[in-house]
Amino acid sequence: MNLKSISKFTDDWPEGQKMPVLFVGHGNPMNAILENDITDGWRKMAKGMIPKAILCISAHWQTNGTRVTMAEKPKTIHDFGGFPQKLFQVQYPAPGAPKMAGELIKTVKNTTVQEDHDWGLDHGTWSVLVKMFPEANVPVFQLSLDYTKRPEYHYALGRELSNLRKKGVLIVGSGNTIHNLRMAQWDSSIAYDWAEIFDNTTKELILKKDHKPLINYSHLGKEAHLSIPTNEHYLPMLYTLALQEQEDQLTFFNETIEMGSISMRSFLFSSEQ
Ligand code: ZN
Repeated sequence: MNLKSISKFTDDWPEGQKMPVLFVGHGNPMNAILENDITDGWRKMAKGMIPKAILCISAHWQTNGTRVTMAEKPKTIHDFGGFPQKLFQVQYPAPGAPKMAGELIKTVKNTTVQEDHDWGLDHGTWSVLVKMFPEANVPVFQLSLDYTKRPEYHYALGRELSNLRKKGVLIVGSGNTIHNLRMAQWDSSIAYDWAEIFDNTTKELILKKDHKPLINYSHLGKEAHLSIPTNEHYLPMLYTLALQEQEDQLTFFNETIEMGSISMRSFLFSSEQ
């Protein structure tokens, strides 16, 4: 797809219509080639959505400074090891969205978003989109996580993206609200007590639209510390939360905890329910 056709593709979004916003717990990359309750949930939530472009904020792209992908044909990045060959063969050949990426750079005022010409789509993005939008015909671009910044920065940056919803961009935060791989038990379906507790805390705060404690999660006690040993999987959720508007309805999906310590809890904000 050339730049001209992307321009045509992105300029005809109906005035006043707002795309939903998603937070998706991606968990095990194997979901990309499996069919299970989780992938059913992904498919169901994407059903009927026809975004002009998809912006993904993935746990798996951390940089010094905030970057946005400009690639016209983003490569599928297999950023993991020790998985079956079949997973390495998955390709997600969606076009990029450089024009929309340019819009994003102009939209964000409180920080500098740099153009990135190297990154493509990491598995936080494609392992989910391959089920949600299997035809790979919607342009996709990514925004990185600046690992030097505090959670408040990520939430504030998320708010600045709200205009993109009105341009037909589906914004997807892809991570996990609870992600403790060190304590994960690969063949267990029983959640740790602390994971259950923190999952409930998260759910309650999201329901109450009480985002402040979620931004300052380090004050939420030992359950939070165990749930978020490093915050790269948690931060994408803050972008999604920041995009919630007054009229948005909340729908939770995939409310399960896998391997004892990975919450798959996902949610959608939509103004059209
Ligand atoms: Zn991950």
